Amino acid sequence: QLHKRIQILEDGKKTYPEVDFLNYKDRKRILVTGGAGFVGSHLVDKLMLQGHEVTVVDNFFTGRKRNVEHWIGHENFELLHHDIVNPLFIEVDQIYHLASPASPPFYMYNPIKTIKTNSIGTINMLGLARRVRARVLLASTSEVYGDPEIHPQHEEYWGHVNPIGPRACYDEGKRVAETMCYAYQKQEGVEVRVARIFNTFGPRMHMNDGRVVSNFILQCLQNEPITIYGEGKQTRSFQYVSDLVDGLVALMNGNFSLPVNIGNPDEHTIIEFAQIIKKLIGSDSEIVNKPAMTDDPQKRKPDISRAKKYINWQPKVDMLLGINKTIEYFRNELHRSKHSERN
Ligand code: NAD
Ligand code: UDP
Repeated sequence: QLHKRIQILEDGKKTYPEVDFLNYKDRKRILVTGGAGFVGSHLVDKLMLQGHEVTVVDNFFTGRKRNVEHWIGHENFELLHHDIVNPLFIEVDQIYHLASPASPPFYMYNPIKTIKTNSIGTINMLGLARRVRARVLLASTSEVYGDPEIHPQHEEYWGHVNPIGPRACYDEGKRVAETMCYAYQKQEGVEVRVARIFNTFGPRMHMNDGRVVSNFILQCLQNEPITIYGEGKQTRSFQYVSDLVDGLVALMNGNFSLPVNIGNPDEHTIIEFAQIIKKLIGSDSEIVNKPAMTDDPQKRKPDISRAKKYINWQPKVDMLLGINKTIEYFRNELHRSKHSERN
């Protein structure tokens, strides 16, 4: 939508979406690490439209300039090509710390780098926050609960994670990132917020992301087999990206500093999910079973009582509506990639 609201004028000057005017007192300098990624770029849109000054830091491992290109050149926006494993010196009021590969194929591709990003990268952001007295929000994950023994998962559950399995680089990386947040809070007085994000989908997911939503939609659009890992009886609960972004902003600006689940409790088995997408697209794809993923969590659904009570947040977007928007996005992406191949 935003891309459409930008016009390139004949003299080559860009016009931007209209941003709210904020007076000096209310305008914040905000750093978004991983801001060129899927979730980060939607968060950047919201913060920019609210009238804040936004700096994105990204190493473009899974993110793309294209996700934020509509803001490039805007006086309130800055894009830095930087790897957060290296220290960063910048004056900001708030840090949304999202930088980390998020999909299993990407975070398993270079597990050492995933660990460094989540450990050293998070230390760097907390060190920066301590120096400039900024508030930090960590994008943590439902993966801290591992393959959970309780259902739905509430924030006081300590989790069930295999520390040496293939998912450990991410799960344990996020667990230690949470630990570091509370160590910096206790020892150095840094203000921290921890969002435990559950499965999220929407436009700007990477085409080769490998997560279930993008895989199933792309497979159905191309009439290729729908790949179910294992029997497909495992469950996930999917939230649309705009709900997540609203939750992150509410958490950052609220007074609650313990971890908060941000997710949609609408739970489905993976088979059900395949059938829903197949029907929405009207695809002829057959459903095929592939070997199960090692340590794949069997059930996942957030208990969101804490989010409702302390940050007055709950998801609003109906899953089918969100999926239709995402299908539309991938349809355009396929068209675009075919067109650019031809040229
Ligand atoms: P994404 O892969 O689209 O975005 C991550 C961004 O971080 C990318 O732009 C990538 O290039 C950047 N990045 C990675 N390593 C970096 C580094 N060392 N230095 C600088 N930039 C780096 O993923 P996403 O889905 O947008 O996820 C964003 C955050 O939310 C992640 O921290 C992820 O763990 C968390 N999260 C997402 C989900 C979800 O379902 N999308 C669920 C739980 C948690
Ligand atoms: N999954 C699947 N087929 C795919 C991709 C994923 O059956 O093509 C399954 C996967 O095994 C898991 C669920 O869908 O049980 C969600 O996977 P995803 O990678 O999206 O997220 P996560 O495992 O991190 O929740």
